[in-house]
Amino acid sequence: MMWYVVSIIFGAIVGSFLNVCIIRLPKEESIVWPGSHCPHCKVPIEFYDNIPLISYILLKGRCRHCHRHISFQYPLIEGITALSSLIWIMKFGPSLSYLFYFLFVAALIVITVIDLYHQIIPDVISLPGIGVGLGASLIIPQNTFFNSLVGILLGGGSLFLVATLYQWLFKREGMGGGDVKLLAMIGAFLGWKAVILTILLGSLIGSITGIIIMVLKGKDFKYAIPFGPFLSLGAVISLFYGENLIRWYLYLNR
Ligand SMILES: [Zn+2]
Repeated sequence: MMWYVVSIIFGAIVGSFLNVCIIRLPKEESIVWPGSHCPHCKVPIEFYDNIPLISYILLKGRCRHCHRHISFQYPLIEGITALSSLIWIMKFGPSLSYLFYFLFVAALIVITVIDLYHQIIPDVISLPGIGVGLGASLIIPQNTFFNSLVGILLGGGSLFLVATLYQWLFKREGMGGGDVKLLAMIGAFLGWKAVILTILLGSLIGSITGIIIMVLKGKDFKYAIPFGPFLSLGAVISLFYGENLIRWYLYLNR
């Protein structure tokens, strides 16, 4: 029970840091200095106004000085990260496996939000992520080095092939290199089976969403829809339901 409370607090604090990464990484600003400040009036935020989740509620979502709205993104990211932390501690207890999956989901959260806002996936997360996933496969019981390595090659390789083919066929870039590195990272953490499932789920959910947006906005809707959030969503679904989905699929194809 004590670990549940600790994990929620820890998750909310990390979530607060993820918010800083989300705002500053695309601007290539330092994520440690200077401290947080209000985006409107630039007044530095005191530590007692910077408590994850709680400050937002106490200040009713407004800056103490200029009283303008603070984005709901802040408590949302803190809440999701705290929930993820709780889920993994319930599953694994305080262990390396907990840290491994918590870190993975935290990376996906930052990538998803940055990709939604800026249509980029920062290399500073995906590239070290590949190394961390592969390295951790040596010490956690849920993965093996071979599984992780094949996951990287299959994840990165297959998307690289599709991207190259698309560019050759349509003479324009369909998928960014960022998606290739993201999928290699997902492969490193989850292994080869889950990375295949991630591609299938991500493409399926992405296509359905694309069709819905085109219907709602009219057929001349031309804005590129980032693929990263769908791959991240696919990875999270694979993480929770992967084994069940694969078993169900094999059952259907008996
Ligand atoms: Zn302000």
